[in-house]
Amino acid sequence: MSFVNYHTHCKRCKHAVGEEEDYIVEAIKHGFSELGMSDHIPYPDVDYGARMEYMEKDSYLDTMSAIKEKHGGKLEIYTGFESEYLKKYDKYYQSLLDDTRCDYLILGQHFFEMPDGKIQNVYDINDSKLLPLYAKSCVEAMRTGYFKMLGHPDLFGVCELKIDSNYQRAFDILIEGAEKYNFTLEYNANGLRRGMSRFEDGMRYQYPMDILWDMVKDTNVEVMVGSDCHNPEQLCDEYFVNSVKKMKER
Ligand SMILES: [Zn+2]
Ligand SMILES: [Zn+2]
Repeated sequence: MSFVNYHTHCKRCKHAVGEEEDYIVEAIKHGFSELGMSDHIPYPDVDYGARMEYMEKDSYLDTMSAIKEKHGGKLEIYTGFESEYLKKYDKYYQSLLDDTRCDYLILGQHFFEMPDGKIQNVYDINDSKLLPLYAKSCVEAMRTGYFKMLGHPDLFGVCELKIDSNYQRAFDILIEGAEKYNFTLEYNANGLRRGMSRFEDGMRYQYPMDILWDMVKDTNVEVMVGSDCHNPEQLCDEYFVNSVKKMKER
């Protein structure tokens, strides 16, 4: 089996370890045919945390270009960012895609814009009524065409809320959006790496959430496993390999 992964971090985001090249070397070791580096995007005006400094953006892109020169004969290497979608950065996203050093963006909606303009962090959601709004913000991002895939579409599984009809509504919105825009949803192995947690409804992973993936099974939506590794050793670990097997069986 030859693996591919487009969701990869490196130490620039300050919560991962390893240089860009360490991940490429690891991918070569495991016989990957494609590896995409997608460290957390920096924004020009605001530091939202848990990401590289904006002043490091060029160094990141140039480092990846040099790695492509050095290792490009062994596997396909792509350079990207994992990015939230906020409408005010439309020009910025486009400028990155216009940059010949950058190949793609994946959507990792860690925060989103509320109807009143306020930026809401997913981890701080304390009312399930916000979940459909979150899902709508992801679909809005799908519509723009800037992004190749939605990373951890069930990220809001981290919220310590009782699972109610708003979860179902949010999943419906995400699946309808993925169908409409022919958009790939990611089954995120990093959620599994974090292990199970106790919620009001019992023990479960924060994400991936089975409710979503059982629904996705009955659709034609394309699914891709993302390692979302923050350490080179995680790139092709048991969580990633088992996730690939599980999604192939669907
Ligand atoms: Zn991260
Ligand atoms: Zn990630």
